[in-house]
Amino acid sequence: MKELIGPDLRHKGTKKFTPVSLASSLSFSVSFLLSVLIVAWLSYQTVEREVKAIFLEQLSMSLPRSVKMLKVWESDMKAKVQALTSTPEIQKHSLELRKAYDSSKGETGEVFNKEKLKALRSDLNSTLKNFGFLGFVLLDETGFSFAASEDAAMGHRKIVDRLGKRFIDLAILGNTIITLPFNSEVEILDRRGILRNDWPNLLIATPVLSLKGEFIGVLALRLRPETVFSHIFEIERTGKTGEIFAFNESGIIISKSRFEEQLKVMGLIPDKLETPSILNLSIRDPGVNLTKRGRIPPSSIEKPFTRMALSALAGENGYDLDGYRDYRGVKVVGAWAWLPEFGFGIASEMDYEEAFSFLNKLKIWFYILFSFLLAASTRALYMSWQREKAHASMMQAKEDAEKANAAKTEFLARMSHELRTPLNAILGFAQLLGMNNERNLSEVQKDNVEHVLKGGNHLLILVNDVLDLSRIEAGEFSVKMESLELGPLLDEALRLIKPLAENHEIKIECLAPKGNNLKVQGDHTRIVQVLINLLSNAIKYNREQGSVTISQEQKQEDRVRIRITDTGHGIPKENQSEIFEPFSRLNIDKGTVDGVGIGLSITQKLISLMGGAISLKSEVGKGSCFTIELLLAKP
Ligand code: ADP
Repeated sequence: MKELIGPDLRHKGTKKFTPVSLASSLSFSVSFLLSVLIVAWLSYQTVEREVKAIFLEQLSMSLPRSVKMLKVWESDMKAKVQALTSTPEIQKHSLELRKAYDSSKGETGEVFNKEKLKALRSDLNSTLKNFGFLGFVLLDETGFSFAASEDAAMGHRKIVDRLGKRFIDLAILGNTIITLPFNSEVEILDRRGILRNDWPNLLIATPVLSLKGEFIGVLALRLRPETVFSHIFEIERTGKTGEIFAFNESGIIISKSRFEEQLKVMGLIPDKLETPSILNLSIRDPGVNLTKRGRIPPSSIEKPFTRMALSALAGENGYDLDGYRDYRGVKVVGAWAWLPEFGFGIASEMDYEEAFSFLNKLKIWFYILFSFLLAASTRALYMSWQREKAHASMMQAKEDAEKANAAKTEFLARMSHELRTPLNAILGFAQLLGMNNERNLSEVQKDNVEHVLKGGNHLLILVNDVLDLSRIEAGEFSVKMESLELGPLLDEALRLIKPLAENHEIKIECLAPKGNNLKVQGDHTRIVQVLINLLSNAIKYNREQGSVTISQEQKQEDRVRIRITDTGHGIPKENQSEIFEPFSRLNIDKGTVDGVGIGLSITQKLISLMGGAISLKSEVGKGSCFTIELLLAKP
């Protein structure tokens, strides 16, 4: 025999609440975000390093390639000029012109031998045009021009006034020299074929010697730098903003700027028709981004050279990938070199935005990702805080409800106990009164005593039920687990319920096999109590002339099912779980059938205390079937 103490039903269905605390969620979120931030930042740094290294290689490689092309062009030009000066006619005519000039010792156009000049011009002009030269000048050792393709270019020393005499001295020594671009000393044709003063040009100068090897003069061929010289730098341009340009030692651009049209709008070169950027643009930092701010504000203070120009003019080669402002004030990255062999510098630059647009996009994605994670973490934190708050108030409410329930249970237990004592006295004395014939009670008095006994018994059952329920809820109820034969239990319940059935004219039929020797585990009194509860309900809530059947079924090895089926009004689906709650009754029964609504809840609790279960199937209008499952005793 085993005695089971019932489970503490006050805590049925509750688990100890262990919420993830807000502090731990917060620290998790912060460390998660920090790790993402660090990993993303380190990855970005690596990508940035790689991208910059590749870009620097591209940038730096464009400079030597441009220099190489420059050298090819230079030797080609020199070869052409030298080929011209080795022509006997040219030597002859040059010598004659030189002699005419020497014998006159004058320096005016009048003394030139017009015949010879005409012959030289016709010898040279067609060749010059074919090679893209604008004209020629013959200079003596002092730089005096004693013959030229245009009259205006003769009879003065304007070229050496502009360029100095060094290139003449070098030419006399037998060298072929290409000068840097300078503004022409006479009118020359601009790129649209209009005669312009001070238009950029450059000279290719080589000595002219007589057949005997005497020095006659220096033949200088005139060329516009924006033709081939400038184009050489344009070949290596990349992207929308990449440009390569050359500049002289004064920091003035000597090749065409890619942004010529914008420069006029910005006020960096005169807004006159066809003003070239060559020789008109100083590589200085305007201090503001002129592509955004419009024109450069007039200022008497000269702006400083750009970062690139400062370094290159100091004779340095270098690069800057962090970005600096170029002559438009735009942030650019660049590489540069000073070319002593040419006497000028070259730079390769590109707008920072274009050069590292990939990195910028990556950065934007990184920011978007981070903001998203931040928002998601904040939301998760907020939700966790809300949950914690809700849980805390739920726990409080539960605690309050439990306290109130405990108080109610205690109150009911005390009250029931207190009621039972006087009630027993009333019943005892009423029974005595009814049994005592000596008192010669009249029929009316006997009837009254019957009423007292009936009402008192009913009240006692009710008080006992309430007491049972409160003890079960308080966890103070125990059941004695014994091995019991099922047949006698059913017989006992049927015997006890018979008067009620007869009273209600309800037929009871037991379909369980006679001589049933199945043994169940449970408390004798409580099993009978459960059967009587269910049978009395089946009778009470039956229709007139209805019936109740008891059947038995064994589907599992260790359990037996007992079914109590009635032909009553049935229980709607939506009320089927609620009728097991204490003090709940269906509206239809209130007022018509005696009861307080605790029978089923006690039944359910008793069954569960004995390790069994109860279930219900019901159809409105047809009847209900309550099934209890009991544990079978081990043989
Ligand atoms: P009581 O019978 O004292 O009202 P119970 O807890 O036994 O309390 O039953 C609760 C309610 O369930 C009843 O009031 C009744 O409305 C409904 N009920 C119980 N058994 C049946 C049944 N066999 N048929 C129809 N309704 C029932």
